[in-house]
Amino acid sequence: MSRRKLIAGNWKMNKTAAEALSLVNGLKAEAAKMGKADVVVCPPFTALATVAGAVKGTPIAVGAQNVHWAENGAFTGEIAAAMLKEIPVAYAIIGHSERRQYFGETDETVNKRVKAALAAGLIPIMCVGETLAQRQANETDAVLDRQTRGGLAGLTADQVKATVIAYEPVWAIGTGVVATREQAQEAHAFIRKLVRNLHGNVADQVRILYGGSMKPDNAKELLAQPDIDGGLIGGASLKVADFMGIITCA
Ligand code: PEP
Repeated sequence: MSRRKLIAGNWKMNKTAAEALSLVNGLKAEAAKMGKADVVVCPPFTALATVAGAVKGTPIAVGAQNVHWAENGAFTGEIAAAMLKEIPVAYAIIGHSERRQYFGETDETVNKRVKAALAAGLIPIMCVGETLAQRQANETDAVLDRQTRGGLAGLTADQVKATVIAYEPVWAIGTGVVATREQAQEAHAFIRKLVRNLHGNVADQVRILYGGSMKPDNAKELLAQPDIDGGLIGGASLKVADFMGIITCA
């Protein structure tokens, strides 16, 4: 089963709108080299409209870094799916480990956000991944099982098919320590098998991204693994040359 590779840049809390425009203009200039990979950039909320305007008519899509589950209401500081759709935004990262660690995100809230994103026609990029302590305690499979099962709870097979999963070992995020291709492939295969057990053959169509210190010099061997369908890139997505280096590997 061939799945189209997806390379997504998570800009986190970096770039003012002006800086974001300059970065995306740099990527646009390289668009001809993007080939068959799907490319997404996820700027902060304040730069979404600027970046969405700039990428119109290019192969670059835009994603948000979070989305709330309610349609509207008294949720100070949150953003609803319809607000993102209007911009327009196509993807939403959900349940990033930084949200789980610093902002109380749980499998239950991740599941609610995934459902709201899908209902609005946004493509969720749902993040899962174990901490170093969990890996050292041999809890990786149990954590991935709980987070994946929890995040996808109550979805139809078609909705699962429309969801992107990102495996991001927390110990590899922003640390420069990358999972080996064997560690990454093993986790991706575990997640795909779980999705198959829960939802059948749609598992073959679900894209599972690797995230955690992916760089141009390690992307090729990671992206060559049979169950790795792309990357969620933090640090290296903030530099045109590095992000393009990864995209051309895909
Ligand atoms: C991330 O935050 O999703 C990530 C993968 O970061 P980095 O590439 O910097 O490790």
